[in-house]
Amino acid sequence: MEWKDPISQLKGVGEQREKKLSQLGIYSIEDLLTHYPRDYKDRTRLAKIIELEMNTENTFVACCKGTGETMKHGRFTLTRLKVTDETGEIGLLWYNQPYMKTTLKAGEWYLFTGKLQNKYGRKEFSVTEWERIGNHFAGGRIIPVYPSVEGISQKMLRGFMEAALAEVKGGLAEDIPLWIRKEYQLAERNFSIEEIHFPKTEQGFYDARRRLVFEEFFILQGALFSLKAYLEEGNRGFVMKQKNAMDTFQKYLPFHLTNAQKRVLKEIEKDMSTGKQMNRLIQGDVGSGKTAVAMAASYWVMQNGYQAVLMAPTEVLAQQHYHSFSAIFDPLGITTVLLTGGQSAKEKRAVLEKIASGEADMIIGTHAVIQKGVEYHKLGIAITDEQHRFGVRQRGALNQKGQDPHILVMTATPIPRTLALILYGDLDVSIIDELPPGRQKIDTMAVASSYHERIYSFMEKQVQEGRQAYVICPMIEENEKLEAQSVLNFTEELQQKLSDCNVRCVHGKMKAKEKQEIMDCFAKGEIHVLVSTTVIEVGINVPNAVIMLIENAERFGLAQLHQLRGRVGRGSDKSYCILVSDAKTKIAKQRLKALTDSEDGFVISEMDLKLRGPGEFFGIRQHGLPELKIANIYEDMPILLEAQTAAKKLMSTDPFLRLDAHEGIRKRFAGFLEGKQLEI
Ligand code: ADP
Ligand code: MG
Repeated sequence: MEWKDPISQLKGVGEQREKKLSQLGIYSIEDLLTHYPRDYKDRTRLAKIIELEMNTENTFVACCKGTGETMKHGRFTLTRLKVTDETGEIGLLWYNQPYMKTTLKAGEWYLFTGKLQNKYGRKEFSVTEWERIGNHFAGGRIIPVYPSVEGISQKMLRGFMEAALAEVKGGLAEDIPLWIRKEYQLAERNFSIEEIHFPKTEQGFYDARRRLVFEEFFILQGALFSLKAYLEEGNRGFVMKQKNAMDTFQKYLPFHLTNAQKRVLKEIEKDMSTGKQMNRLIQGDVGSGKTAVAMAASYWVMQNGYQAVLMAPTEVLAQQHYHSFSAIFDPLGITTVLLTGGQSAKEKRAVLEKIASGEADMIIGTHAVIQKGVEYHKLGIAITDEQHRFGVRQRGALNQKGQDPHILVMTATPIPRTLALILYGDLDVSIIDELPPGRQKIDTMAVASSYHERIYSFMEKQVQEGRQAYVICPMIEENEKLEAQSVLNFTEELQQKLSDCNVRCVHGKMKAKEKQEIMDCFAKGEIHVLVSTTVIEVGINVPNAVIMLIENAERFGLAQLHQLRGRVGRGSDKSYCILVSDAKTKIAKQRLKALTDSEDGFVISEMDLKLRGPGEFFGIRQHGLPELKIANIYEDMPILLEAQTAAKKLMSTDPFLRLDAHEGIRKRFAGFLEGKQLEI
C-alpha cells in the first residue's frame, strides 16, 4: 500500500466509514496518518483485579470465564460477564451492548478499561473499552486520542492507524535532506509517524513531535522561499516603460505624496521596469495612504497598455475603492469597472465582457475577480488590499490569471518579522512608515459600561456640531444570526437615547446592496451614527467621522482594535476612540492599556502576540496562515525559527532544488504549492 492511496483501500473502511472519515478531512492513507492525536492516555500501568480502585479509570488484563447474561433494567440493557486473573474475579458490566454476551471467548485474555462502581448493589467493573490481546501482548501502553466525529470511535481510529502503519511500515521516503536532519538532530520520518501515534517512550515521543513540527514549518517556509526563487529567476515580468508616468500622476492627486509613498513607488518602479516579475508587499499603518500608491502603480501600468486589477476583502471596501478610483480616473479617460459577488448575473456579464475585450482598464472587485470565467484581456498588475484576509493559494490563483502579472500586496497589519516570513516569505517588502501630514492624535480611552450615559451625550454633542460616529458591537464568533441580533438591539437602544440623531446599522446578514446604500448615506453625512460589527474594520474612509465607540472591547484582538481606531482621525477634526469594557482580568486591562498608550501599529502587534494566550490561533488564521496539523505557532516558536534558518540555508545552497539529495523536498514543496509554481 502506498502513502497516497485512497483510504478505501484500507481493510475495514467501507463506503459508510469512508464518508465519515472524509468529515475529518481524511481521504488518503497520508491524511489518516497525519491525523495526529490531540491527546494521549496513559495505560502503561496495568492493575490486577485485586488492586482495582473504585470510581477511577483503570486498565487491567483478565481471562474470560464463560458466556455472559443480559437483562433489562429500566431504559438499559445490562450485560454481565465474569473475568479472572491470578488475584481474583470480577464482574464486568456493559450498557446497551447485548452482543457482548457472546463476543468474548472463554479462556481468552483481554485488556479492559473502565471504572469499578457500585451501582446495582454490587461492585462491578463498567467497561468503556476492551481489546483482545492475542499472542503478542507486550504490556500496557500510551493510547492516542484523536479528534473524531460520531460514528468513528477512538478504538476504530486506533485500529485504522495500526493497520495503515503496518502497511506502509518503513516505506515512507525521508524527504528532509540528510544534512538538515543531522544539523537539527531530527528524528527519522517513519519513526516519527509511528511514535506520534503510539509512543513507546517519553523521549521518543518528544523527538517525534519535534521532527513533525519542524517538518510542517519547514515545508510552509521552504515552499514560500522556493516560490520566491522561482518567481525571481524567470524574466517573465512585463516591462513597463515611460518612467515619468508616476510623477505625472502626482498632479491628478488632491495632495502631495509623502516621502514614504514616493520611496515605495520608486521600489515598485524598479521592479516593474526590469523584466522581473514584481512580488511586493506594502506594509503601512492604517491611514498611511496605501491606496494612493496602488492608484499610481495602476496608472503607470495602464499607461503602458495593460489592465490593472485591485482585489478587496469585502464588497463595501470594493465599492469604496471603486468610487475613489473612478473619481480620479474617469476624467483621465480611464475606464474603471466593479466586479463583486453581489451583482446580478446581467451586471456581471456586462462587466466580464468589458474585462475580456480590454475596454475596462481598471478592474476593482472582491474574490469575484479571481474566479473562473474572468478572462483578462491583458493583465499587467494584480493588487490585493488588506492582504491578511487572503491566503497564499488565493494569491497564487491571481498570479495565474494573466500571464504572470506583477503582484502588489497591501496590508495594514504590521506583524512581527518571524510571522511575516512565514506568511509572506515569497514577497519583497516595502514599508510606508510615515503618515500624511496634519494628522491629529486620536484620543483613546478605556472606560466601563457605567460611562454609557456620558458617552451618549458626548456623541450627541458631536453630531450637533456636524460630525459623525461609528459604533462597533461585540463580535459573536461563527454565529451571524446572533451577531446581527446584537447589532439590531444596540441600534434600537441608541435610537432611543440619541433621539435627534439618525442612527442606522449594517450587519453581515444584510444584502450587499442594502449595506452599500447605508454606507453611501453615511459617507454623505445623512446617517450620523453607524452601528455595525466588523464590516467596517478594513479600509473604510469617511473623514467626517470622529468617534469610534467599541463595545465589549476585550473581545477583539489588539491589531483589530487598532484597525478600527484607524477609521477615525482621517479629517482635520479632533477624533476619539472609546473602548468600553467591563473585563476585570489583568490581561484584558493590559491589552486595552497598550492601545491607549500607543498609536504605533508595530508596537501594538508585538504586544498582541505577547499578551495572547498560547494556542489562540484566531488572529493568525485571519492573516491567511494555512491550517497547521501539529505545530502551534506560539508554543513552537523556537522550532519555527530553526525551520526558517534551515529553509534559508537550503535555498542558498540550491535555490531551485536541483540536487538529487533535494528531490524529495522539492516534491513536498511543489505539493504544498499545488504543483503549479515550481515546474520550471
Ligand atoms: P490606508 O493606508 O489605510 O489604506 P488610505 O489610502 O485610505 O489609507 O488613505 C487614508 C487617507 O489619507 C485618505 O483620505 C487619503 O486620501 C489620504 N491621503 C493619502 N495620502 C495622502 C497624502 N500624501 N497627503 C494627504 N492625504 C493623503
Ligand atoms: Mg486601505
